[in-house]
Amino acid sequence: MHSARAWLRAVLALLLCIVSGVALALDPARQVHEFTLTSWSMQDGMPHNYVHYIEQDAEGFLWIGTWEGAARFDGRRFEVFDKRTLPDIPLAGVRTLLPEADGGMLFGTSQHGVMRYSHGRWSVLQDTFEAKLRVVELLQAADGGLWIGCEDALYRRAPGGGLTRIESDLDPVNGMVLSMLELPDGGLLVGTLRGLFLWREGQPLRALNPRLGLPEDAVRILLRRRNGDLVMGDNHGAYVLDEGFTQARRFHEGQVEAAHEDRHGALWLMTAGKGLVRDLDGRQETIDATLGLKGRGGTGLFEDRQGLLWVGTTNGLYRIADGPVFGLDRARGLGDDYPRSILRRPDGSMLIGHATGLDRWQEGSIAPVDLAGRASSVLTLAPSRDGGIYVGTYDRGVLHYPADLNPDGVDVIDGTDGLRSQHVRAIAEVGEHGLFVGTSTGLAVFERGTMTQWLGSGQGMPGDFVRVLLPSRRGGLWIGGANGLAHRAADGTLKVWHSGTDFPAVSSFDLLEDADGTLWIGSDSGLLRLREDGGFSVYDHRTGLPNDSIFRVLDDGRGSLWLSSNRGAFRIAREQFTRIDAGERRRLIVDAFDYSDGMPSSQCNGGNAQAGDFDARGRLWVPTATGVAVIDPDASLAQSHDAVKVKIEGVQLDRKAMLPDNLIVVQPDVRRVTIHYAGLDFRAPLRIRYRYRMIGYDRDWVEAGDAAEAVYTNLPGGHLRFEVQAAMSPVDWDDAGLKAGFASVEFEAIPPFWLRPWFMLLEALALLGLFALVLRWRAGRYRRRQERLHRTIEQRTRELSAKNAALEQAGRERETLLRQLEQQATHDALTGLPNRRAGDLRLAAAFEEAAACGQPLCVALGDIDHFKRVNDEHGHDIGDALLRYIAQTLADREIPLGGYVTRHGGEEFLFVLPNADLAQATQRMESLIAHLANTPLQHDRAGELRVTMSAGVAQWTSGISGNRLIAAADRALYRAKREGRNRVVAEEH
Ligand code: GH3
Ligand code: MG
Ligand code: MG
Repeated sequence: MHSARAWLRAVLALLLCIVSGVALALDPARQVHEFTLTSWSMQDGMPHNYVHYIEQDAEGFLWIGTWEGAARFDGRRFEVFDKRTLPDIPLAGVRTLLPEADGGMLFGTSQHGVMRYSHGRWSVLQDTFEAKLRVVELLQAADGGLWIGCEDALYRRAPGGGLTRIESDLDPVNGMVLSMLELPDGGLLVGTLRGLFLWREGQPLRALNPRLGLPEDAVRILLRRRNGDLVMGDNHGAYVLDEGFTQARRFHEGQVEAAHEDRHGALWLMTAGKGLVRDLDGRQETIDATLGLKGRGGTGLFEDRQGLLWVGTTNGLYRIADGPVFGLDRARGLGDDYPRSILRRPDGSMLIGHATGLDRWQEGSIAPVDLAGRASSVLTLAPSRDGGIYVGTYDRGVLHYPADLNPDGVDVIDGTDGLRSQHVRAIAEVGEHGLFVGTSTGLAVFERGTMTQWLGSGQGMPGDFVRVLLPSRRGGLWIGGANGLAHRAADGTLKVWHSGTDFPAVSSFDLLEDADGTLWIGSDSGLLRLREDGGFSVYDHRTGLPNDSIFRVLDDGRGSLWLSSNRGAFRIAREQFTRIDAGERRRLIVDAFDYSDGMPSSQCNGGNAQAGDFDARGRLWVPTATGVAVIDPDASLAQSHDAVKVKIEGVQLDRKAMLPDNLIVVQPDVRRVTIHYAGLDFRAPLRIRYRYRMIGYDRDWVEAGDAAEAVYTNLPGGHLRFEVQAAMSPVDWDDAGLKAGFASVEFEAIPPFWLRPWFMLLEALALLGLFALVLRWRAGRYRRRQERLHRTIEQRTRELSAKNAALEQAGRERETLLRQLEQQATHDALTGLPNRRAGDLRLAAAFEEAAACGQPLCVALGDIDHFKRVNDEHGHDIGDALLRYIAQTLADREIPLGGYVTRHGGEEFLFVLPNADLAQATQRMESLIAHLANTPLQHDRAGELRVTMSAGVAQWTSGISGNRLIAAADRALYRAKREGRNRVVAEEH
């Protein structure tokens, strides 16, 4: 170690301290502007780059007026209103804006008077349009009317309309009104191209410049400050006027175009070409092109409700934000835009090591630290136990500064001390006397100022390249770098975790040890945690980290870890990791800060120790690729905890834009409903997170991230309600205490006719009808079947009955037939008398009966006399008829006597005469033939026919056969014929 000329340096240092003390009063170090400047231009959707005027409407939207119309801004998107988007309104040359008490907004144009926007509708103030007013400035009059400053004159518009031109002797061109201010007594100050004028009711305009002793000049600003000061600005400066307009005290030199007093009481002056001047209690600072505010001045200077200052220049729209993040870069006094290492000093100052040296920030001022002739890129910083600091350089080893940072007191540790590499990325002191220097080729161990050990991969380290060193709570040292992690115990023992085997990353970038011994490791594979059981937990993109390369790991002492990465800085509550480990959450809730929040770059620098630190106010300082990002967690928290106002900006049905203020009717032919909404936070619009739902369609909230529109296709019919919530990131939507902004819009979606209730009712009725018809048809079919069945059964029954009847009939016929057959078999067909066969049977029966009764029995055989002649004379038919007659007569006479008669053949008859002996039989036969002879047949053709009969009688005696008996009777008959006919002859045995 080589300290030099220490005594002389001490004296010089004392001198320097005195000088710097004086210098501090003179503000030699550059004051750091702690704001972020963000810009928008036509590339971002503005209608024109020259912003004439800026205002905010009642809903919270910002409006800008430009040559090419106006635009409404929600922090992310400009909605342009111009001749193209408003075919009926000639909105161009918008020079000034004026919000109205009822929420409307007035637009003063350079050719067509005043236009008005209210709740989505545009109109023109007809009288100003017809008068073709060339408007420059608008002012609300105390009586509710309007002051209209124009190119030719000043006009006054009555509250209900009606223009009055304020007469003056100014010529039209020079009469151009540039600014106006109403006085408490009702008078009006009017700034014109030709100086300041005073108007009072009933009096002509009175020029004030002569009284003020000022030359005629363009008066562009008139402002009443809160302290009562009346401020006027012209081409030569800004002045405070007295109430009698007799004195003008100039407090700013040079042309001023716009002025504004902010809520902190600072006066902002927009100058012509010299930037924006902020004047707070006489102390002025300038924001100009070097800080990014480009373009010549303009009249647009506006403070929004969040306290953000908006500036319109010829080059666009600028936001000056005192947000939670600001950037510290060369424009703000940093020696270089590439910082690497940041260290807070016990006195609250901040050291910033960068690519060309070391700077020190203290209480808003920044100044370089002398590198003692060893100018180099600074890679790391570390505190030393003597109150000084170690500075690790890119190629010059280590500089050890004393507590006062006096360059003359610097000790250099380099090759002469044994350092094999002068590329130093990490430095740490351990114990009473130990010093460790991590280099690109290994770790140097110093004891009491002497290097005692060199540790590289050859000595068991996981790699040579050391990036971070951290004294361990066990008295040893954690070593991180290439290829893994190592721990060197106080006795020199090494424990090593190798990349690829027992270490889940390649490089270790940063280390943080908790009181309980838990080690957090920032690595190229996310945030690692070395658990008590020796294993590693890994938190990376899979658990919600926006980036896996974690360069810096810091504890904010309030329960959160801060990580830096190539995608910004993240704040994560420790309990989030616990909940992930417990399986209660799958993703971390990450409060991410990046370029959109005001960081100079989202790409943080790291890979060396001390790549970021907290300042005395608890703000995190992180080196990035284009400067230091300073993040104020308090401001961020305050912001996060405010509910974000959210507005439905517009609704589109297919391509047709609708106003979101009414119930929106969605016709059935609409295929796509797009809802644009915006959280109105102009400080960090990109940190707003949304979720929405369509009640009546969505079952649950849809987390939309930072997307500011919702698109629905195929919405169902009926009443629907779209709701959107907005909150500042990080958002835990499950948090019951979350304060979220809310907006909604209602829809009445007309369903297509086939989904409308009446149609559905009809449909249902038709279905019911159809059902009934089917039922009826089926019932009818069933009934018809039943009927058919009945008919069939009946028919079958009838058929059966008929058959039965037929059978009965047939039976009867058969019986008849049988009877007939029997009759025919036993009777003679012609006469109806029993025939010969029947006669034979009867004869046998009569024999038995006679034998049984012991009674006599006779038979007689009768033969008609000369019957041949009847046939011959009268024909056979008449012969038949006569035969029938004879037979009937014989039967009628004989049968009542107990006997019977049969036709024995031809005209012969056999008589059976029971219970009669021969005499009795002869007598009966004689009686019979007598009767026959005396009974003629009357015939209509043949006249009276008279016949006689001859008979032979024979008596039965026991043992004689029928044939023998009949033969005996026949013989007797033969004798009767021979004896003369018509007589009875008895057989004599
Ligand atoms: P008789 O007996 O007195 O000697 O004379 P007859 O003419 O009756 O003679 P005979 O007995 O020989 O003839 C019987 C005649 O009776 C012959 C036949 O012409 C006639 N005759 C027999 N049967 C029938 C009959 O059924 N119908 C008719 N019309 N004539 C019959
Ligand atoms: Mg005969
Ligand atoms: Mg005869």
